[in-house]
Amino acid sequence: MDPIKIELVVIGAGPGGYAAAFYAADLGKKVLLVEQDKRLGGVCLNRGCIPSKALLHAAKVMVEAKESAHRGITFGEPQLDLQKLRAWKDSILTKLSQGVAGLAQRRGVQVLQGRAVFEDSGTLRVETEKGQQFVQFEKAIIAVGSRPAIPKAFDLGNPRIMTSTEALEVEEVPETLLIVGGGYIGMELGTVYAALGSKIVVIEALDTILAGADADLVRPVAKYAEGAFKEVRLKTKVLKMATVGKQIKVVSENAAGEQKEELYDRVLVSVGRAPNCADIGLENTKAAKDDKGFIKVNAQQQTSDPNIYAIGDVAGGFLLAHKASKEARTAVEAICGESSKSDPAIIPAVVFTDPEVAWAGLTEAEAKAKGIKVEVVKFPWAASGRALTFDRTDGMTKLILEPETDRILGVGIVGHGAGELIAEGTLAIELGANAKDLATTVHPHPTLSETLMEAAELFYGHSTHAYVRKKAEPK
Ligand code: FAD
Repeated sequence: MDPIKIELVVIGAGPGGYAAAFYAADLGKKVLLVEQDKRLGGVCLNRGCIPSKALLHAAKVMVEAKESAHRGITFGEPQLDLQKLRAWKDSILTKLSQGVAGLAQRRGVQVLQGRAVFEDSGTLRVETEKGQQFVQFEKAIIAVGSRPAIPKAFDLGNPRIMTSTEALEVEEVPETLLIVGGGYIGMELGTVYAALGSKIVVIEALDTILAGADADLVRPVAKYAEGAFKEVRLKTKVLKMATVGKQIKVVSENAAGEQKEELYDRVLVSVGRAPNCADIGLENTKAAKDDKGFIKVNAQQQTSDPNIYAIGDVAGGFLLAHKASKEARTAVEAICGESSKSDPAIIPAVVFTDPEVAWAGLTEAEAKAKGIKVEVVKFPWAASGRALTFDRTDGMTKLILEPETDRILGVGIVGHGAGELIAEGTLAIELGANAKDLATTVHPHPTLSETLMEAAELFYGHSTHAYVRKKAEPK
């Protein structure tokens, strides 16, 4: 096979890689997109964001149906057809990945299926089904993502010990499911399996689930989990696992050093993710890794090798799809000589548990840790008419403000649909808006978006539906 000569090669077709390839093609570059999987879309589309949210939607339908009796509506016990549930979920993934492939074709982005390895700073070797294909490139963007990290002690080769990838296949609904790690992936998948009927135990080494979110935002999720899960055990570590017949024996130890031995039908290990750059020939380039194994980049996503950029999960930071897509734009603009903005972007985070948790910008905990003086205002959803209409007053919207200017530095929301609401907060922070801007913007009624406006109004002491204190508004 003759080598392919190309202006830009993008390795990995996840939300970082395909966004980069498409944007570069839109800006006139000749682009080759290399992906080892048969389906485009990366982890997000095939084994992450999309399948998990499809299953969470199914879970929500089941829970809401069950909880409708007090509204005078009762349904029978749900009949679960796992094969149909899987087929429905997979149909969404197929539709989306075909959509990505179609968009690549329409933009003239060449797609090559195979595993890419760097030979040097200008050459890739791609192992395809037909043999080796060499690619000579001017610039490369590495977007090879990450994979579930599974500690050696838990890697017994037993399919009953799952990562998120296997858990999303929903092969069966185990009677008992242990989730090791109370981060967002563990808590979201716990929400799914609890609704399907599993008895869930979460074991988390830290003193909180959903570390990174402010404690007051996490509280309603912890409360919900108290009812929906069998147990959430904090400050506890799983030490060992072993196969015992059709079950997994798990030994854990709490902060007091007390050990417990239990049997579970399945275990989900969700303790973090590892970058996929151990075997891509990085050592044949000048690109360097940090001490956690992620590729080091500058503000333009350029690695220590001037021809090579890295984006998304493999470049570390928040391992989120929209962060990958944002970095794709930054890298492409740098490659096309269009780069100007190097301020770090505001990356919102959303946890799709019940209730959802979302935050953007500065958190209260971060402000405290860094000694940044802030004012905090919280609007409880018990004062929201809209929240009452669907019986979910367990939410709260809070603003983190700069005291001198009332500028919005951070927004945190917990409650039904928080993931949709956080975009307004992100925009407010990006635009440098202050509380007055939010308070004077007319929000449609009855919607949960009013809680952002009312939080700002509350800050000035004149929220219509809540009362706290007066503060002089900026002129
Ligand atoms: P990836 O999506 O990981 O894509 C990398 C691609 O590179 C893969 O297709 C891989 O096959 C390919 N590749 C790897 N090595 C090579 C090679 N050598 N040659 C060729 N191709 C290669 N994020 C959110 O923002 N919101 C969510 O709700 C959310 N939910 C999630 C739920 C779960 C269960 C999981 C696991 C993740 C979730 N994420 C979510 C995280 C999100 O999926 C990732 O942050 C995102 O996919 C990262 O995008 P990426 O482009 O960096 O890499």
